[in-house]
Amino acid sequence: MKFMIEGFDLRTLALTNLLLGVVLGLGLLSFARVHPILLSFKKLGIGYLLLALSFLLIGLRHYIDDWYSVIFANLILVLSIKILGEGLLVFFKVRHQTFSHFSNILITLMLPLFIYFTLFNENTNIRIIIISFFISLQFIYIAFHLKKNREEINHQFVLILHITFLLSGLFFIFRALWTLSDNNIDNYMQAGIIHGLATIVFQLIIIITGFFVSWSASEQLAKDLELQATIDHLTQTFNRRALEGLAKKEIAQAKREDSNLVVIIMDIDDFKAVNDEYGHVAGDQVLTEFSQRLKDNLREYDSIARYGGEEFLLLLPNTEADIAMVVAEKLRKAIAAPVFLIGENVHVAITASFGIAFNKGANIEWRQLLLQSDQALYLAKYQGKNQVQLFSTEVVAITNKTSHKEVKV
Ligand code: GH3
Ligand code: MG
Ligand code: MG
Repeated sequence: MKFMIEGFDLRTLALTNLLLGVVLGLGLLSFARVHPILLSFKKLGIGYLLLALSFLLIGLRHYIDDWYSVIFANLILVLSIKILGEGLLVFFKVRHQTFSHFSNILITLMLPLFIYFTLFNENTNIRIIIISFFISLQFIYIAFHLKKNREEINHQFVLILHITFLLSGLFFIFRALWTLSDNNIDNYMQAGIIHGLATIVFQLIIIITGFFVSWSASEQLAKDLELQATIDHLTQTFNRRALEGLAKKEIAQAKREDSNLVVIIMDIDDFKAVNDEYGHVAGDQVLTEFSQRLKDNLREYDSIARYGGEEFLLLLPNTEADIAMVVAEKLRKAIAAPVFLIGENVHVAITASFGIAFNKGANIEWRQLLLQSDQALYLAKYQGKNQVQLFSTEVVAITNKTSHKEVKV
């Protein structure tokens, strides 16, 4: 039995696929030009354009030679799915090499099979079975590979695409089985509803992939911008704005877990002299190397922020005061030696002073922690620099006796 629905003809559907493919393909290619980080958009754009070309050739069946409207059209179809799949996998940061090899094998197998069943033993049913089976393999392969994406932000998009490709793959298996038991198809353009649906599945693939990939890309770009707004460009540590947010989070966590949060404020000693002697560019390089040494000597969950010019602040969650002293001492030594190598053979020796405060017991708030660590740092500077001081009541007594104006922190 054959279903025929008036107005549901393959040529019109092929035309809409052609238009969709061209619009989306050109759209993604121009997007890739504006945002070069979205390399995968180039692949996706080319994939959509090839898909459009394939449907152009399919839509011209009986007007152009079968070589083009049957053999090339279907080869290009499988090739376009290969490139689209690669683009999607690259976009979601999943390895695509096996998928590419697998698609190449399908394309290599297709050529002789399609030549044979078009030019030597014309059989539309077998051709439909072959192409449907190959497409279903590609779709199901893409569906399962996409699941390997690890980025949390893409989770919902990957799930939607996974379902889309899986259902489309299953549809093409169904189409292959249907065609197996169907009458001989003499004219593909009037082959029936199931083949019209196959073209519509491609419309859905174009629309759904285009829409969700663009959505996911805009989320990723927004996330990147957000991250950039929290990072100090020179030292790649958190900036002051990010620090405020981080500090509040860490204090809340310390209170919840009744653990100790340590704040260490550091100030490079006599940094003005470094700038004066070696220049600002060298000074900048020292700051970069300085923050690298901090990163190398801290735990993954400690935070480093550039508080101001040559002042840095560390947040060490779940750390006792005596351990904080040991950590600060280790950092002090790591900064004092070896000397900083700037350029080919310029050696700059620097030291830094450290002030430590912690919130345990009194459940001290952020502003107060800052003030206390600053007072401890003041003492470190006052007592000769290149040393670590822990905030205590004695520190208050000494800093009260002297004036903050005497030593600039
Ligand atoms: P002290 O031991 O008392 O801290 O002396 P200091 O010279 O380090 O302190 P002061 O606050 O007088 O000078 C800080 C210097 O840091 C002045 C400024 O030129 C330099 N500085 C601040 N930000 C940057 C930066 O981004 N790059 C460079 N190269 N220098 C900076
Ligand atoms: Mg300084
Ligand atoms: Mg300073």
